[in-house]
Parts: sequence; structure tokens; C-alpha cells
Amino acid sequence: MSIAENIALVREKIDAAARETGRTGRDITLVGASKMNDAAACREAVAAGIDALGENRVQEMRAKLSENAYDGAPLHFIGHLQRNKVRQVVGHVALIQSVGSEALLLEIEKAAAALNLVQPILLEVNVAGEEAKSGFAPPEVFRAAELSLTLPHVRTRGLMTIPPFDADRPATLRYFQEVRALSVDIGEKLFHNVSMELSMGMSGDYQDAVRAGATMVRVGTAIFGARHYDTGGATS
Ligand SMILES: *Cc1c(COP(=O)(O)O)cnc(C)c1O
Repeated sequence: MSIAENIALVREKIDAAARETGRTGRDITLVGASKMNDAAACREAVAAGIDALGENRVQEMRAKLSENAYDGAPLHFIGHLQRNKVRQVVGHVALIQSVGSEALLLEIEKAAAALNLVQPILLEVNVAGEEAKSGFAPPEVFRAAELSLTLPHVRTRGLMTIPPFDADRPATLRYFQEVRALSVDIGEKLFHNVSMELSMGMSGDYQDAVRAGATMVRVGTAIFGARHYDTGGATS
């Protein structure tokens, strides 16, 4: 299957899930998670009409930016962002999806202010409180959203989450529903019900995420094929 065929198939499944919630596939932003895939694969996805591409690693993103890999589609940063790399990302991406600490929020504000621009972001929720994962614990997200409203060069567009890798399907669905509830609450109380983005769902669970209210899914493997971590290179 080609990347274009994979995207078409993923879109069909997104559409079916969205219709269960009174929406359609058009209401869902499909972000291709293109880590470890080369510029040619990214261009193929853009040509096939992907809504956005998402990268995890700053160095890889910068290299592929210099190859014009993302021309024609918005670029999102979706990986763990170290504070000392913020300046390499702010202003270069349409959305930073993975803002998981107040320190990072403040660093982004500083970098965006220096460039005199407003950086759209999502607040990442560490929904299961995993030690090794970044993100705000659910009770901290509201305060982070409040803080973000005081920062003139940051615009919070919604929430993002990655449930635990080893959670079973019902548990994953509950995590999605929990973050959805957080996003509704924050949207009502802080954002005047302006529609909040909710980025959740990957290759294994994007349909359930859409059923739970995701507005944005991040899909890698189901579009680009399996990643080969052993070679450190691009996939087939
Ligand atoms: C890699 C990645 C994805 C996509 O994962 P797949 O299981 O390959 O679809 C989504 N979100 C983030 C943050 C990722 O790093």
C-alpha cells in the first residue's frame, strides 16, 4: 500500500468513527507523525492531502525543514521539547502540541516574544501520571491554561494526550474520555467555549479517540509503515 492509499484508508476509518459522534471526517485534523521517515515520504503525504505533519525530534525536523519536506502542509511539533531547544522550534511550526510544564510554557513565551509572534500550542496531559512521561497531571492542567492566558505570545488551542502504551482498550478509552472532560471544562471556564482542539489517538487507537471526542489524531505507522528503530534510518 502506498502512503496515499494508507491515508485514504485512515480517513475512511476516521470518518466512520466521527459519524458516530455526529461529526464527519472533515471535522478531524489528520496529522501524519513522520518521525524516522525521510523527506520524500513527507512530500508524498503532503501530495496526498495530509492535513499536517508532526515531528518528534528537533534535529530531525530541522534537517527535513532544510530539505523542504513539509512544504504545502502545516508542521506540528509533537515530541518532548527540551527548554534549550525551544528557540529552534518556536516560529518554525504552526503548533507545538507537547507543552507539558509551566517552565516550558514560559520559555516558549520568551522565544515567541523575541520573534514578535504568537505561538499556538496545546497543553499535554499526562493522564495516567506516568513517571517517565512529560505533561501536566490532570489537576494541574487548568492552572497551566490559566497561566497561558497571561502570556501574550502564546495561544493555547487545546489539549493533547498520549495514554499509557500498555493500557488495554477500555482503559485507553477511559483516559481519552477523561481528557475530553478536562477540555470541555477548561473550554467553558477559560475559553468562552471557543472550540478547543483535542489531539489524541495514534495508529492503534485513533478511532476510539475520535469516538471520545478527539478533533485531531496523530498517525504514524498506519500511514508510513513500521519504523525501523534498529537502523536509525527511514522506513521502507
Ligand atoms: C510516533 C508518534 C505518534 C504516532 O504513533 P503511531 O503509533 O506510529 O501512529 C503519535 N504521537 C506522538 C507524540 C508520537 O511520537
